[in-house]
Amino acid sequence: MKHLSEKELHELVNHISIEFFKKPFVDDVTFNNRLRTTGGRYLPSKRLIELNPKYFYEMDENEFNGIIKHELCHYHLHIEGKGYKHSDPDFKRLLAITGSPRHCKPLPSTINRKKHQYRCETCHHIYNRVRSVDVKRYRCGICGGSLKQVN
Ligand SMILES: [Zn+2]
Ligand SMILES: [Zn+2]
Repeated sequence: MKHLSEKELHELVNHISIEFFKKPFVDDVTFNNRLRTTGGRYLPSKRLIELNPKYFYEMDENEFNGIIKHELCHYHLHIEGKGYKHSDPDFKRLLAITGSPRHCKPLPSTINRKKHQYRCETCHHIYNRVRSVDVKRYRCGICGGSLKQVN
C-alpha cells in the first residue's frame, strides 16, 4: 500500500514546483477526503492546495503529479497577482508551458461503480449490473443457481 505523510506531500509539491516552475512552494498543501470527482483544488483565500487522496492511491504517479502541477499553476499565478482562473490567458499559457493537464481523469473507482450487485447463492459468483435484474427470472450463468442482491 502506498503511503504519503503530510510532510512528504509538502516535499513532493515543493519538488514539482521547483522542477517545473523554478520556484519553491512555501504555503500549505493537504489531503482532503471530501473531494469527490475532482483531483484537487486551490483555495486562494487560504493559499491552500487540497488534493484528493483517492488520486494518490488509485492513479499512477504521472496522473497525481499532473494534478499537483495544475494546482501549482493556480497557486503561482495567484500569489503573483496574475490571472489564475481557468478562463484566464495567463492560466492557459502556464498550463501549456509546464505541460500541466487541463482536467484530471475520472477515478477508476467512480467509473467502475456499478449500481447493483448480485451473488449466486450456490457458487457465490458476483455479478455487477448497472440496471436491476429480476432475480425471480434470471439465474446464475455459471451454475444455474438463484441470485440474491447484495447491496
Ligand atoms: Zn483548476
Ligand atoms: Zn452460480
